[in-house]
Amino acid sequence: MKHAFTLATSSRTTTPVMITKLEYDGFTGYGEASMPPYLGESHNTASDFLSKVDLSTFSDPFLTEDILDYIDSLAPGNYAAKASVDIALHDLTGKILNVPLYKLWGLDPGKTPDTSFTIGIDTPEVVRQKVEEASGFKILKVKLGGSNDKEMINTVREMTDVPLCVDVNQGWKDKKEALDMIFWLKEKGIVFVEQPFNKDDRDNSAWLTGNSPLPVIADEAVQRLKDLPDLKGLYSGVNIKLMKCTGLREAWKMINYARSVGMTVMLGCMTETSCGVSAASQLSPLVDFADLDGNLLINNDIFDGVKVIQGKITLPDKPGIGVELTNDIFN
Ligand code: MG
Repeated sequence: MKHAFTLATSSRTTTPVMITKLEYDGFTGYGEASMPPYLGESHNTASDFLSKVDLSTFSDPFLTEDILDYIDSLAPGNYAAKASVDIALHDLTGKILNVPLYKLWGLDPGKTPDTSFTIGIDTPEVVRQKVEEASGFKILKVKLGGSNDKEMINTVREMTDVPLCVDVNQGWKDKKEALDMIFWLKEKGIVFVEQPFNKDDRDNSAWLTGNSPLPVIADEAVQRLKDLPDLKGLYSGVNIKLMKCTGLREAWKMINYARSVGMTVMLGCMTETSCGVSAASQLSPLVDFADLDGNLLINNDIFDGVKVIQGKITLPDKPGIGVELTNDIFN
């Protein structure tokens, strides 16, 4: 990673990923598992999981629903490893049809949102440097939940007037202090607050969401489609990530469910290559907020894909998830 990535509960300088390749009839689809350690997956668990996969019983890669049900049934958990197969399968079928995924899903590539760029918890000097690097972005995401929340916001605000969102990563403890902080943040031009309390702290979450003048978005508290009904009354929105929900197929279902019950919908990512980020970006015309900057935080991207142009997610006119491998690690 370009900078150490510091959140309320952890700091790291690398993120293990695994790239998955599916071949059929001369076409190749690419997928990715990104595995930040706090989610419990690793190169070992992903290798074990992927070694169980045998797609030779399926005659046709377009049996997406059946294939992904089979993948999900192989073992519990392993959400990122499952996502790597899902992404590769969608890339493969898009390439066979020679159509970008957004087109298959009937989405307007002109409706992609601006993506936020993430500013991790740091000293004012480093924060200033990061904000300067992020000058092309139209919205910034500031990590809070450390010991210097107001200093973080004030430092960013000294340098830019763009809208900000904040991600507390479960770092706040006291509900009254949290609400006071949210009123202060609203004055500073913050547009939403992500995961203020521990994911299991239902009482504080419900109280805060009921009283907050800003949308309160669930991230760590939600992984898959089955978790969404349980968020009712606890959060006003949800941050959907391919690596949490087993991939594009389920993310599509989650976006539609969340919309149907009036939730704010956000699409996020881990630190990952342009493979995972380009895949998620295909769904971005559907969402209110996108935080798809994970590929911009790393030094060793091996794919060329989605671009951020004047802050906006810009989808390539290429089939599948729209990526090309620029460093062939498979040879
Ligand atoms: Mg988050």
